[in-house]
Amino acid sequence: ASLPPLKRKKQEAGCETSKKRPPSHVGHTARSSYRDELPIAQGKPEIIRELQRNSVTILVGETGSGKSTQIPQYILEAGISRGKCIAITQPRRVGATSLAARVATERGVPLGTSVGYSIRFDENYCPSTKIKFITDGMLVRELISDALLSHYGVIIIDEAHERTLRTDVLLASLKRILQRRNGLPLGHDQPTNPLKVVIMSATLDARRFSDFFGGAELIYVKGRQYAVRIFHTPAGQPDFVEAALRTFFQIHTSNSAGDVLIFLPGQEEIENLLSSINFYARQLPQGVMPVLVYPMYSSLHPSQQSKVFEPTPYGSRKCILATNIAETSITIPGIKYVIDTGKCKEKRYVAKEASSGVDTLLTRDISRSSAMQRAGRAGREGEGFCFRVYPMHAFDSMVPALEPEICRCDLTAVILELKCLGLDVEGHDFMDDPDEEAVHSGLTTLSILGAIDKHQNLTDAGRKMAELPVDPKFARTILASGELGCSKEVIDVVSAFSVSSRLFLGTPSNDSAAVDAREKFKHPSGDHCTILNAFRAYQEVVSSASSGATKSWCAANSLNERALSEAMEIRRQLRKICGRIGINTDISCGSQVQPILRCLVLGLVQNTAFVQPNGLYKQVMGSSVMKIHPGSVVQMSHPAIVYNELVLTTQMYARGVSVISKAEVSSVFSHISHKF
Ligand code: ADP
Repeated sequence: ASLPPLKRKKQEAGCETSKKRPPSHVGHTARSSYRDELPIAQGKPEIIRELQRNSVTILVGETGSGKSTQIPQYILEAGISRGKCIAITQPRRVGATSLAARVATERGVPLGTSVGYSIRFDENYCPSTKIKFITDGMLVRELISDALLSHYGVIIIDEAHERTLRTDVLLASLKRILQRRNGLPLGHDQPTNPLKVVIMSATLDARRFSDFFGGAELIYVKGRQYAVRIFHTPAGQPDFVEAALRTFFQIHTSNSAGDVLIFLPGQEEIENLLSSINFYARQLPQGVMPVLVYPMYSSLHPSQQSKVFEPTPYGSRKCILATNIAETSITIPGIKYVIDTGKCKEKRYVAKEASSGVDTLLTRDISRSSAMQRAGRAGREGEGFCFRVYPMHAFDSMVPALEPEICRCDLTAVILELKCLGLDVEGHDFMDDPDEEAVHSGLTTLSILGAIDKHQNLTDAGRKMAELPVDPKFARTILASGELGCSKEVIDVVSAFSVSSRLFLGTPSNDSAAVDAREKFKHPSGDHCTILNAFRAYQEVVSSASSGATKSWCAANSLNERALSEAMEIRRQLRKICGRIGINTDISCGSQVQPILRCLVLGLVQNTAFVQPNGLYKQVMGSSVMKIHPGSVVQMSHPAIVYNELVLTTQMYARGVSVISKAEVSSVFSHISHKF
């Protein structure tokens, strides 16, 4: 609809106590005229009217039109949330933190006051927060303590098209909550605490959301999209990272100004390409524009994320290497060229045996919908170019969209969360049915862990496990540590393992300093106690040395200081929760290792394996055969191992491995064998 230009409403004061600007990490100045210039502003009066009228609204708008940053503010300014908090969910942590920072800047308030965020292990909001960006997983957790989410006046599910597992759980739960909160209580002619729900999607196939909510109103917001010329390679490329590198330098050395966005599947490819581009950029002849290369992926620290939004210095070119996070979650200004490798990482759970599944994170071809979104990123501010490093026929044979996560992910944690809400996954009204085998496998795991009894009812232990925001297997490990007198150590191990993939810098295969560092902290029992040694050493340094000295100590030991400080925060929060659920966090087993390993086996009994005559390991409770990951400190053959996870790359690897005795496995096994 073409609508008259807007008159801006006066901004509400909210809970701001200070007019100080937040430590902005965003590039734009947050002038109100900037807000008025966003495509969504054109439709503001109509959008507000619809939101006022409907309890559920589906809003479809092109990426960058202003949905995530503006809709919560429109709702607040128009009083639609009735003074209550507005939750806006994000599938990724980085989306939640960067949008919260942006909206705080636009409103001229410090982050954490009227605008805040909540992500796992990091919260920044206050009781009077009115706009809260929250990961979908954290909102599911809030459901456990407030089943009707009565604290919120409006809940916005953003990026709904991504259909993450927790988004699907929320959609199903919201349907139920709407009935409860919007029904008329006896003797009232108005609901006492009505809820409004807004579902936002960047792709056009939103009719299903509308149908799911009984024919909810659909609003389309036009974006600002310029023409994008798309090029394909004539043939498939054996090495897509190398192809992206070549394409980048072709653009860089022969085309006019404009920033470049390269889509890659994951962090590893991003780090590799980043160092190659920097390497070759240094060899370019004088006179060629300097390049500033920035990574962008989910687990990146907020201070690094913010760099991509900074304006490109005059006379240089910015090149951003991103995962599919930059497809719809994050809009980076200034992009004229997109290079699309056509690949993404897909999480998939293979529940082939009832008692053990394998979580895989494999690189696969993207969907056609993703390819179109990626190309669209080049045409936000003017005509753009998209270079696909795959041929046209590869595009034609892509699947239209990826399967929702509920059909392909491990459901154990979600089943436990639903149990805490008194719900069964089978009886819940999801948009798509969960994978049956994954449900079965999840229930078996919960039964083995003692989280549910033989009637599939939640146990006390299960309720405690659900409080701990870690995988149920590790939650069980922590619970066991309270009983076996080693909670101090086990909480440290679990905290450090939450960041383990980034803890040690360098890879032992090509970096001798990295080998030395691992050797220094190496514990003969394996990776768990090795990481514990490194984490303990860090804790000692932090408590006694200056921050400068800590930094150099980390560098000297090839340890990632940022990952370690995150682990410290995780540790702090886990200890707090443990205190709440009655686990004494200060019982230590001293120099004994046995209790720690016993706790690991109790939580990870499905992840135990015995060596076979051919040197490979075979699961005790399943049939997967694996090797120990080359990054592990355990390299020799041992009769039995326990591992954190199986990763399937070219072959099956066990990662996060410790050596255990067969007797240990048998004794745990005899306790639980009646359960499956
Ligand atoms: P949508 O949700 O429709 O994709 P957004 O509301 O996320 O759109 O973005 C609107 C505009 O705000 C975009 O031009 C984007 O570049 C800008 N923006 C969003 N987040 C940030 C941020 N953290 N820093 C700077 N600009 C941002």
